[in-house]
Amino acid sequence: MLDSMVHDNCGVFAIFGHRRAAELTYLGLYSLQHRGQESAGVVTSDQGDFHLHKSMGQVSKVFSDPETISKLTGRMAIGHTRYSTTGASSLLNIQPFMITNRRSNLAVAHNGNLTNSLELKHSLDSRGSIFQTTSDTEIILHLIATSKKRTRFDRICDALKKIKGSYSLVFLTEDSVIAARDPHGFRPLAIGKLRNTYLVASETCAFDILGAKYVRDVEPGEIVEISKSGIRSHRFKKNGKNAFCIFEYIYFSRPDSRIFGENVDKVRRRLGRLLAREHPVKADIVIGIPDSANTATLGFAEESGIRFEIGLIRNHYVGRTFIDPKQSIRDLDVRLKFNPVKGVLKGRRVVVVDDSIVRGTTSMKLVKMIREAGAKEIHFRVSSPPIIAPCFFGIDMPTRKELLASRMNVKQMEKYIGVDSLRYLSVKGMLAMPSLPDTTFCHGCFTGRYPIPPPRANGKDKLDH
Ligand code: SF4
Repeated sequence: MLDSMVHDNCGVFAIFGHRRAAELTYLGLYSLQHRGQESAGVVTSDQGDFHLHKSMGQVSKVFSDPETISKLTGRMAIGHTRYSTTGASSLLNIQPFMITNRRSNLAVAHNGNLTNSLELKHSLDSRGSIFQTTSDTEIILHLIATSKKRTRFDRICDALKKIKGSYSLVFLTEDSVIAARDPHGFRPLAIGKLRNTYLVASETCAFDILGAKYVRDVEPGEIVEISKSGIRSHRFKKNGKNAFCIFEYIYFSRPDSRIFGENVDKVRRRLGRLLAREHPVKADIVIGIPDSANTATLGFAEESGIRFEIGLIRNHYVGRTFIDPKQSIRDLDVRLKFNPVKGVLKGRRVVVVDDSIVRGTTSMKLVKMIREAGAKEIHFRVSSPPIIAPCFFGIDMPTRKELLASRMNVKQMEKYIGVDSLRYLSVKGMLAMPSLPDTTFCHGCFTGRYPIPPPRANGKDKLDH
């Protein structure tokens, strides 16, 4: 993944029953940093009192002052890390969100995107709800606050029944932590345990940093409440067909995480193997675009027998390209972020493996650099099919016309990027997961076929998130 693309993915974390809840949440968010790098926040619950700190910036910056963490007292917490747009409104949109009403305190953190947010907002507006943010997550809080159900748990279930789209949610109440996942399970959400402490996180890598064990996933359509009485589970909606986001495997999630019942590393490696099988090529070396394509590249090398080499060095202090919201900076980023290793590339026929191509502009610049470093031939191999359509379920891709593969065929893209050959993994290959035989995925951005209807007006009416 080289192009600037994704604005909307987030990471959530929750913990119940630990005296250093805020500190552990901070560490958990550190592991989920790759899911969103522009803002972060933690809220704790201390015998009914909520303590919140959130700000723009990466987790290390938001919590750079040790005093900040120590002020977040309490044995339960939730945290969030997200991408957001710049500007004043984005400050308001930093999560977790918190409400206090006559009933109690409640906080929420959300990974996903509601597809009926506009309809719900109009309806709540007309009944007098006042919104403070432009985020669809706030709608969930309003639905809970206006529910007529008697208990807090039932009010949350009531709200969840009204929302559509993708959501992996964690809630903080005065005496419990609650986690819920949409009936299709678009985004991952896992439960872990550290001795007597329960944890919930977008990805299991957040458990590993704490020495916690993975217990199980929150199932699609399931709500789980963790309190002093233990874990209580309830199906708030019958789960229809699962629609796990296949892009989580291809690019988003960390390779050391286990999501949707399988290790990301294993799936990614398999995608690389299939790619080599589908599109063999004669070459001297295979290199990957670091870091997201590394694992698929290893799979490609294993299957093809072509020697794996490190042909590009990534500067890890620049951050993920796509997070940079300014076009002017983006144009500088390739040289800032990657440097070709001339000794490896010179005079060689090179296979370059990447996990996906979005706009193609960055791929083009990188290919030019590899050529300048002396590569004799460049064969670009992509471990996913062409991205031809936007995502409406939590990942804010460019518009359809900005997606390279929606305006060009493979031959044209080959020329545009400047490679000797360009080949993509097929949809059939991508979906062939022998270790997950009963799993169904969302593959809308690759096929244009979405598992649930996208928002009205082709998504233009969707709220900022
Ligand atoms: S459209 Fe693509 S990115 Fe969005 S949920 Fe589906 S597979 Fe994932």
